[in-house]
Amino acid sequence: PARPAVPQVPASGHPAFDVHAVRRDFPILQERVNGRPLVWFDNAATTQKPLAVLNRLDHFYRHENSNIHRAAHDLAARATDAYEKARETVRAFLGASSADEIIFVRGATEGINLIARTWGTKNIGDGDEILVSQLEHHANIVPWQQLAQEKGARLKVIPVDDSGQVILEEARRLISARTKIVAVTQVSNALGTVVPVAEIVELAHRAGAVALVDGAQSVSHMRVDVQAIGADFFVFSGHKVFGPTGIGAVFGRKALLDDMPPWQGGGNMIADVTFERTVFQPPPHRFEAGTGNIADAVGLGAALDYVDRIGIETIARYEHDLLAYATHQLAPIKGVRLIGTARDKASVLSFVLEGMKPEDVGRALNSEGIAVRSGHHCAQPILRRFGLEATVRPSLAFYNTCDEVDRFISVVRRLARA
Ligand code: PLP
Repeated sequence: PARPAVPQVPASGHPAFDVHAVRRDFPILQERVNGRPLVWFDNAATTQKPLAVLNRLDHFYRHENSNIHRAAHDLAARATDAYEKARETVRAFLGASSADEIIFVRGATEGINLIARTWGTKNIGDGDEILVSQLEHHANIVPWQQLAQEKGARLKVIPVDDSGQVILEEARRLISARTKIVAVTQVSNALGTVVPVAEIVELAHRAGAVALVDGAQSVSHMRVDVQAIGADFFVFSGHKVFGPTGIGAVFGRKALLDDMPPWQGGGNMIADVTFERTVFQPPPHRFEAGTGNIADAVGLGAALDYVDRIGIETIARYEHDLLAYATHQLAPIKGVRLIGTARDKASVLSFVLEGMKPEDVGRALNSEGIAVRSGHHCAQPILRRFGLEATVRPSLAFYNTCDEVDRFISVVRRLARA
């Protein structure tokens, strides 16, 4: 296919997309690795950070740093304002109706564990069923498995077809009156499949179950609207959407959060404490015990503002074209087996090369300055569905270019000939 044209999206009000201008916003993209300009194709593992985020963190520590909610001095007010403003930014980014529905956590993993430990402990019992898809990251398997074992519940799995797409018919068949929660990823980190989560959420609701959507891999690639999806819970990690590590968010529908017991106990989450009993804060503070990751929450707000300035629809369109460009070159190379060929995909190209271990392909790419992940991607069940223990996984972001794809393809072609 042709190289991606510059997407024009006048209707959205965003200026035309200029990938070279965007790249200047990310200092690390100027790095050289093994004597070559860095190609960062490991975006599904973590994304790089724009100056807007680096500068915001710097500004916070120079001018606003304080603990929040406690003290009666000016810096506490500045830090609290910045932190709560970031919560409002996350709310708007996810299309939630109230900032009280946004809980700051360390990331998607902590978010899912929080939901399993609070909502799950209260609502899952003996004989209940928890439904996940075969595509899930370990973060959306293990906490449910632990809970199921403790409670005598069953973990059931919606299978995928040969393209790596969830089989909706099977979801329909598996969801029953015993199903208490359906927890599915919106985009697979291992294959890039975009899962029809709104349909799955609807099936869950029809059966009286609640639905959790893991947005770790979706938020940086597509517009997410938790109300349009209908999700009861939604989690994501800041570091996968150009924000800092150690910060992420849980969206939870207010009625559910109000009904959930706290997870960790300590400062900030209480209204009143005696040795006999504790009165907890309402959500979201009830779920944010201790000093949180204040600066990185503020940095996450800056990352989401940055994405908003570029325009997520613009990003989605450019990446879609870039992924098609890369796929059409990679797939026909002799010896390449592409894993994950669903019609609707985002960012990820997972493949194996005949006669070569994925880790060796990764190493060969690294020696040319190209960073990809090779391994099981913390999603062993889905790789085993395809008879594999590991793949090579380049994953694209909106600051990647056709030239970078060309460099990647030329290395794979050389390895395939060898
Ligand atoms: N869910 C998915 C789909 C992921 O890709 C990841 C990370 O790769 C996670 C959850 C866990 O995210 P984190 O390690 O940031 O908590």
